[in-house]
Amino acid sequence: MDVSVERIAEKELKAKPAGKKLGFGVHFTDYMLVMSYREGAGWAAPAIKKYGAFSLDPAAMVLHYGQAIFEGLKAYRGREDRVYLFRPADNLHRMNDSAVRMCMPVIPVDEVLAAMQQLLSLERDWVPDIGGASLYIRPTMIATEAALGVRPAREYLFFIILSPVGAYYPEGFNPVKICVTDKYVRAVRGGVGNVKTAGNYAASIIAALEAQAKGYTQVLWLDAVERRYVEEIGTSNIFFLIKGELITPALSGSILPGITRDSVIKLARSWGIKVTERPITINEVIAALEDGSLAEIFASGTAAVISPVGALNYKDREYPVNGETTGPLAQRLFDELQGIQYGERRDHFGWRVPVEHAAK
Ligand SMILES: *Cc1c(COP(=O)(O)O)cnc(C)c1O
Repeated sequence: MDVSVERIAEKELKAKPAGKKLGFGVHFTDYMLVMSYREGAGWAAPAIKKYGAFSLDPAAMVLHYGQAIFEGLKAYRGREDRVYLFRPADNLHRMNDSAVRMCMPVIPVDEVLAAMQQLLSLERDWVPDIGGASLYIRPTMIATEAALGVRPAREYLFFIILSPVGAYYPEGFNPVKICVTDKYVRAVRGGVGNVKTAGNYAASIIAALEAQAKGYTQVLWLDAVERRYVEEIGTSNIFFLIKGELITPALSGSILPGITRDSVIKLARSWGIKVTERPITINEVIAALEDGSLAEIFASGTAAVISPVGALNYKDREYPVNGETTGPLAQRLFDELQGIQYGERRDHFGWRVPVEHAAK
């Protein structure tokens, strides 16, 4: 597939925001990539064009029935003007898993990856050069066919937008306080919790707001049936270090298979740590906190890489974790993953993918 590029005049390019004021998801770059699909014809060639609003029919099916999926990954600026991606093909394959579940068309992964590379080459200067900052990449697909009626749409739009984002921990790597919710659930087996579809996040907002009102950063979700098994923290996966064993909930169908989760499992195993994927109940976690056998809890995800948990609230009791400080394993994983992402450490697993310079 040949990618068409509609160049913007130099004077129309946006001013880049100051490094210290990046925040998350508030600034967007000059260009975006779009690719449309029509049943029968398949995907049209991707086009790179000026970032801007879409025109959508009010009957566009995404607005009514929610066929919308997305991904999230980052480009990192290393030394000597190098820019890297981290396991980008895994994100696009996961997007296709989401597409299949939501009855949407799959994308051609190799071609989309090449088109994404081309977009990034063009937008290379937008990758921030401050420690911990990065260029967030948001591939998205929506149903655009104008029709009412619950069925798969026949027309879709795939697009990629880019947003420079600041360091998740500008003041250093700090533990967060988490509140277990047994009032709301995120996902059920047989539902859509294992894919990145927009409605999951809409449904989760109320629980996050209630946790924040109580002074907690995020929610820890339990399984929807028994409200006993631990599932995830907010939009990240969760790990427990108990008696030297790293435990994470098994992918049960209601947990999102995080790429950072997979990276943590592989790294920890390569260091000789015993890693177990199995169901773990909140009662087991609380008992291990009470008898002192639980050393660390942390979350994993693209946004923060690793988030140490400093305190857990369950049924209105707060349990400190590791004296509310960052544990050594969370720190080691964070340093290693960031080191690989920014090109500072050896990439034994072949996770890092360089972004080429644009052909002039
Ligand atoms: C995206 C996401 C994660 C983390 O996945 P990564 O690939 O590690 O970024 C975890 N849980 C949920 C619900 C998510 O949406």
